[in-house]
Amino acid sequence: MEIDSRKYQRLRESMVKNQIEARGITDASVLSAMRRVPRHMFVSEALMDQAYADHPLPIGEQQTISQPYIVAHMSQALQVDRDDRVLEIGTGSGYQAAVLAEIAYRVYTVEKKRNLYIRARKIFDQLKYMNIVTRYSDGTMGWREESPFDAILVTAGAPEVPKTLVEQLAMGGRMVIPVGHSFSQELIKLYRDEKGIHQTRLGGCRFVKLVGEYGWGEE
Ligand code: SAH
Repeated sequence: MEIDSRKYQRLRESMVKNQIEARGITDASVLSAMRRVPRHMFVSEALMDQAYADHPLPIGEQQTISQPYIVAHMSQALQVDRDDRVLEIGTGSGYQAAVLAEIAYRVYTVEKKRNLYIRARKIFDQLKYMNIVTRYSDGTMGWREESPFDAILVTAGAPEVPKTLVEQLAMGGRMVIPVGHSFSQELIKLYRDEKGIHQTRLGGCRFVKLVGEYGWGEE
């Protein structure tokens, strides 16, 4: 099957214009990444025509691919630079990792559900994202061997910020993570400098649960 088409390019262009630029996202690298990544390739065939709509979509295993605006908002908040090594927890469909891979030097992404991990790995290979490294494990433990990271993005809701992840943040590093209750969270941004860790709030959000050693317990 053809990877991209005029139809999907048009839908994508209007997604960026009407959902992302219209809501105030200005980071040029984020906007151009979202113009490039074929989001429809990260959902099942039955949902491809909805891939550019203004809402999250199911990806199986009771998980979801985030709404396009949320992906843009978190990517902009991370302030990713071309030389950055970025850690993502919660690969899911792989879409967010692909957006980050368009901007960063390398993306390390961790998924704890085996089927999602395998599917995402396949699509990264198919789309030739050579700078995405995948891992099947509990992401609340981070990825110690590859730390420290310039940016860490958690795409599942945590009861609190896992201390393991804070430890793996480089000097000058940023982390964006949804923290709060199981059904609604606040997006928190952490920043590390010589003086320590600084925290700002980016507003309410709703993510599936981060389940693991430093997350929620298994259902
Ligand atoms: N970033 C994804 C959206 C992820 S949905 C995308 O762009 O599609 C959240 C994902 O986090 C789910 O796939 C879920 O299985 C995963 N997850 C939950 N807890 C995790 C953990 N402890 N480690 C790694 N992945 C986890």
